[in-house]
Amino acid sequence: MRCYLCPVKCGADREIGAGACGVKGISVAKAYLHPFEEPFLSPHQRSGAVFFAGCSLRCVFCQNFDVSRARRGKELTPKELADLFRDLEAQGAENLDLVTADHVLPWVGEALSLYRPRVPVILNSGGYVTADALRQVDQFIDVYLPDFKFADPLLAERFTGRRDYPEVAAEALRFMAKKPSLTAGGQLKSGLAVRHLVLPSHTEDSKRVLDLLAGLVPLDAPLSLMRQYTPMGEIAGFPELNRRVTDREYDRVIGYAAELGFTNIFAQEKESADKKFIPDWD
Ligand code: SF4
Repeated sequence: MRCYLCPVKCGADREIGAGACGVKGISVAKAYLHPFEEPFLSPHQRSGAVFFAGCSLRCVFCQNFDVSRARRGKELTPKELADLFRDLEAQGAENLDLVTADHVLPWVGEALSLYRPRVPVILNSGGYVTADALRQVDQFIDVYLPDFKFADPLLAERFTGRRDYPEVAAEALRFMAKKPSLTAGGQLKSGLAVRHLVLPSHTEDSKRVLDLLAGLVPLDAPLSLMRQYTPMGEIAGFPELNRRVTDREYDRVIGYAAELGFTNIFAQEKESADKKFIPDWD
């Protein structure tokens, strides 16, 4: 059957081979208790992270390059994926964190119908996902955790090849924002939290992203402004990306979010911009 799941709509027959996202079915690059998620997701630093290989975006600066380009990963059946969810929960995971699952949502839904963990299920999305695809798994997802990467279509095209990213991400967030919000014991059990990775030399676009977000999500929704950007990937033709974010740039973005009235902003330490915080893809 031809795949039109994500906005790329490449029409690949995934029973035969990989689509533009780089994978055929489910391929998992790593699953473990990940200590570096935000405290409102994982107060005890035990996120049950499952990193899916492949991605329908092609960010030149991808911070998980080997995984997103499907260079690493093990193919699993939905039943094996459900067993993996059960294992992570048995190891003490305080959530199930589905990292970049946008291109494998039907299989993830099948796995969650076989085993639904008792801990919150997080869909950790790149934002490039359709509302139709989200509808297929919405009943199994407790927390939506989308990125909103770019506001300018030309910048999105320059860095990902997808000019429609801002429009698609806005539509996805409208859908995700309907999830009822619930926090207990310092942990977000249900609802929406948004992430934005601040890039060097592009704080104006970060501010436009925040303008858009202010109209899309409640101002008290957790907003994680990440400064962990580390130069890597295919950035040879993009000299402005070949450095880390400065204090001045990051403070501008944080200050602007506060000016807009966001009340639940999560900032990162400067030291987070280090390859040591990127999982080993062993
Ligand atoms: S999910 Fe993959 S195979 Fe399906 S349309 Fe998107 S890029 Fe193509």
